[in-house]
Amino acid sequence: MFNWIGLALQTLSRLPLEKLIKFKPSENPLRGSAEMATAAAPVAAPAALPAPAAPAAPAAAPPTPGQSALSSEELIAYQNRELGRELWLLERHLSQGCRIPDRKGRRTPCDCCAKGSFIAGMAYESIPIAERIGLPSKIYHEIAQWAEKLEPKVTVPAITEGGHDYKKLSGEASMLRKKLMGTISLKALDGEEKEAQIKSIP
Ligand SMILES: [Zn+2]
Repeated sequence: MFNWIGLALQTLSRLPLEKLIKFKPSENPLRGSAEMATAAAPVAAPAALPAPAAPAAPAAAPPTPGQSALSSEELIAYQNRELGRELWLLERHLSQGCRIPDRKGRRTPCDCCAKGSFIAGMAYESIPIAERIGLPSKIYHEIAQWAEKLEPKVTVPAITEGGHDYKKLSGEASMLRKKLMGTISLKALDGEEKEAQIKSIP
């Protein structure tokens, strides 16, 4: 019976000595501290674990709500494609006299050429974007003014009356598109989903 207690005491008294022996051979201070950390670890480690993950979080830039991540270059490229596409649609429809055949095949005035104010609005909003990155904005003024002047010429009554040269107006739309895009090629209007949309137009 006393032997058990004696053994227990002996074991307890040997524990600190074993720890000392364990640390002593390490002359490397880093290794020593690592070992000490390991030795002291059982309770401290689980609490310390979440800490290393924390510094990684601020690395990713948080998205700023209400602010576009697009650059002015990306924005103006988008505006140009949209404007170019609208001008191209107008150019096509003006060349048809802003008329589509009814069920009996009679070419009947329609109102889809009447998007001058929409185009003008888009052109006007492009001006500050272009200027912000030092691009010339003259073409946007030209498009806006042309589109505003077009508006009264393409109402259904005006088309019915027939006092305007729509072929000529179509040519003007084409010229403005070429000036804007630097080319008459429809390829310039392609962008993401644009190609599919353009191709789907009869
Ligand atoms: Zn139409």
